[in-house]
Amino acid sequence: MIHRRAFLKSTGAALGATLRAAPARLPNIVFILCDDLGYGDLGCYGSRIRTPNLDRMAAEGVRFTNFCSADPVCSPSRAALLTGRYPTRVGVPRVLFPRDAGGLNRDETTLADVLKAGGYRTMCIGKWHLGHTPPYLPTSRGFDAYFGIPYSNDMSPRPLMRDTQVIEQPARLETLTRRYTEEALGFLQKSAREPFFLYLPHTFPHIPLAASERFRGKSAEGLYGDVVEEIDWSVGQVLRALRENGVDQDTLVMFSSDNGPWYQGSPGRLRGRKGTTYEGGIREPFLARWPGKIPAGPVSDALASMMDVFPTVARLTGASLPAKPLDGVDIWPLLAGEKESIDREILLYFDNWDLQCARWRNWKLHIARHNSAAYSPAPPGGRHNLLLPRAELYNLAEDPDESYDVAAENSAVVAEMERRIRRLISGFPAEVQQAYAEAQSRKADPATPTGAYPRPQP
Ligand code: MG
Repeated sequence: MIHRRAFLKSTGAALGATLRAAPARLPNIVFILCDDLGYGDLGCYGSRIRTPNLDRMAAEGVRFTNFCSADPVCSPSRAALLTGRYPTRVGVPRVLFPRDAGGLNRDETTLADVLKAGGYRTMCIGKWHLGHTPPYLPTSRGFDAYFGIPYSNDMSPRPLMRDTQVIEQPARLETLTRRYTEEALGFLQKSAREPFFLYLPHTFPHIPLAASERFRGKSAEGLYGDVVEEIDWSVGQVLRALRENGVDQDTLVMFSSDNGPWYQGSPGRLRGRKGTTYEGGIREPFLARWPGKIPAGPVSDALASMMDVFPTVARLTGASLPAKPLDGVDIWPLLAGEKESIDREILLYFDNWDLQCARWRNWKLHIARHNSAAYSPAPPGGRHNLLLPRAELYNLAEDPDESYDVAAENSAVVAEMERRIRRLISGFPAEVQQAYAEAQSRKADPATPTGAYPRPQP
């Protein structure tokens, strides 16, 4: 356990007044992640699904309206969360399947690695999806213990694992949220005397959906609503356990989702769903609660990324940063209410190795797009990323659903974003640069309508 003096020294004066009344121990970290939960699926984000525990968590902490995952599908988004780096840099540009022997590059450092090295107890409970063979499982990536399905619940086989052992096959889906919660409560009980990191990536509401009998048929929003209401119950149980174990004031709890909704669920008024780089595929609910450190109730519209979690937690815990540069930035000043926004480098959005669009301040620039939706059968000639006939620019502050291309009226913004993209991408792995170069030479038909899936050149 790191001594308090060393902790304060390592985090420095930057924490300022917020840490003057610091606890005599390092903060605990709880990160609860949903799978394929939409931006519009919680009560506090406008849903009719009943989520009283998450709504209360939002009221007791900060709620973000511009928090984005680093990728619109499961594995890459999780890779970015746990490394603070773009998924294309860490060997996870796409979803992993049971046939894949690899996973998150072995030379990457996870958030669990650095917290464990700093004396934390660490546990992952739920869907891992960063490699299911022994060198890639959570217990090889900084977690003391693991309980869950190592990938998505629609994949086969569907093992439930404890650490590296299969304990049930196939996993009984309707029991998972309840059993994950029981595991979490047991871990919190055992860990109350030491700093801990609980990473709780739920299996749901990724399809196939399943809820326990207590929640099945209870929501007015169908089985999807039942599933989300059970997750909300689980969050309430975790928050209650923190109070009962006396660590509520010492624990930063965060809640989000890996990517947008798939066939069910709501992206709110955002355009697109899982698998697309429109906002509906990547904008996520994000709540952060730490009584006494994070003010209760603010709603932040500051731009933030899933990649920011690593540097933010590292700063709060005094953890060592990895040797490789992080793409995320420390957003503690946003969480603590010390700043309203952080000026940051442009954010890039990929589908596999293919750069498609970028976010800078309130602007979204689409430069390339696949000629069909992800998860659709490939069109004749194959699925390709095609350079759009004209880059499309959307002002997300005024046009959150990316409906009105204003590139022609804002040519200076387009030029600045294109300059930043070129500069940033020159430091990416060869596969990204090759895909980028290929897209430059694979232009869409100039007759492609703005916003459409591009047609290939005739
Ligand atoms: Mg997902």
